[in-house]
Amino acid sequence: MVVGWVYDRFFHRHRTDETHPERADRLEVIVSDLAAAGVLDRMRPLQFQPAPAEIVGWVHEPAYVELVRLACEQGFGFIGSSDTKISPESYDAALLAVGGVLGACDAAMSGEVPRSFCAVRPPGHHAERDLAMGFCLFNNVAIAAEYLIRRHGLKRVAILDWDVHHGNGIQHIFEERRDVFYISIHQTPQSLFPGTGYEREIGHGPGEGFTLNIPMKPGSGDREYHGVFDTQVFPRLDEYAPEFVLLSTGFDATRGDPIASLNLEPSSYGWMTREIAEIANWHSHGRIVSVLEGGYDRVRLGQCAIEHITAMMDEVTDADAER
Ligand SMILES: [Zn+2]
Repeated sequence: MVVGWVYDRFFHRHRTDETHPERADRLEVIVSDLAAAGVLDRMRPLQFQPAPAEIVGWVHEPAYVELVRLACEQGFGFIGSSDTKISPESYDAALLAVGGVLGACDAAMSGEVPRSFCAVRPPGHHAERDLAMGFCLFNNVAIAAEYLIRRHGLKRVAILDWDVHHGNGIQHIFEERRDVFYISIHQTPQSLFPGTGYEREIGHGPGEGFTLNIPMKPGSGDREYHGVFDTQVFPRLDEYAPEFVLLSTGFDATRGDPIASLNLEPSSYGWMTREIAEIANWHSHGRIVSVLEGGYDRVRLGQCAIEHITAMMDEVTDADAER
């Protein structure tokens, strides 16, 4: 299956600083390793435009969107907290990142390219409705979910977030709704930023039961992830029967990542992707849009992306198609 590729050099113009873990060279590593492995040649580059601020405002407070624009334009060095750096072109890069993800959603909904990987930055899953945090400005994946519901009329969108950090922004945006099912697997909140994502956080009101948090103890790896996929992720997604699967793809749960303490291998992203593809093939016409979040180990980052993307390329098997 052909996998779409969302990437633009302009994403590099969101500048942080030389010692910041979330720097543009993350994308350079991913692009060069995908190219060297021959994977990039097999992907289909998608065309996309910056998202209109109005659509970003479906999820974020319009006053917040404007604040990000002004803060970048006026040369503030950071926004929200000192670790969330911005540069003059960060606002435009962030709108382009959102636009790329929306373009991938459109390509999936038209049936043209059912699956895509979006190598975008800045990342998004920590961004709250009205607050930048954790290196994130606009919540790329949350905006995509809202877009699939409003623009494409979907009623059940699943978001699986396997970034090592809890995606507080996505959870808070959708925790009172059942049209988005948010599942996050992350290092325990006691031991890692942002300190949310306890098992007891399951959503509120009509959204109760449509947030699933799976905290993992420091040191957890492939075996523990297999366990939670078998007992929680796979059965709960199957039961929800999503019409679309969005992935918040952080690669920072990998052994050796400089800012976390889990021990996945690059190959783990291969099997996890195949499990999700099975769900997508059964329920979602195969549709998956995967969006880069974190991942800071330059040595293994590219290999993680290769394992993830080549697993998305796997053809639908006859057994899948019969279900
Ligand atoms: Zn992360």
